[in-house]
Amino acid sequence: MHEKGRKLIKEAMKRKTIIGLDKECPYFPCHEGLEDCTFCYCPFYPCHEMDTGGFEKLSSITKEPVWACSSCIFPHVRKNAEKILKGLIELDENFDLISRENLLALRKKILKENKKE
Ligand code: SF4
Repeated sequence: MHEKGRKLIKEAMKRKTIIGLDKECPYFPCHEGLEDCTFCYCPFYPCHEMDTGGFEKLSSITKEPVWACSSCIFPHVRKNAEKILKGLIELDENFDLISRENLLALRKKILKENKKE
């Protein structure tokens, strides 16, 4: 993950609250239906799951496959951002110590919960 993303996630975990919309961001609004900017850098990236709109494409620069998230709104929906933040804090106070396996399990758990609501 990009270092800026790691920093933003750590700050949110420390504050224990999502940030809402960052209307000062030069890219705002980056997604249609954007409700929260806490996870501008998705903690699950690259999830390699197509169930929320992510897909693999070839990089126009390197021509290598890259995971594309432009069609995924999952971490930017307020309800999900709150659940993600809560889940991360429960897993470990230090984001760096949370395993990839646990991150992907958290993503699946939230999606499963959302289906029941
Ligand atoms: S597809 Fe969505 S959930 Fe998966 S890594 Fe991209 S933004 Fe995150």
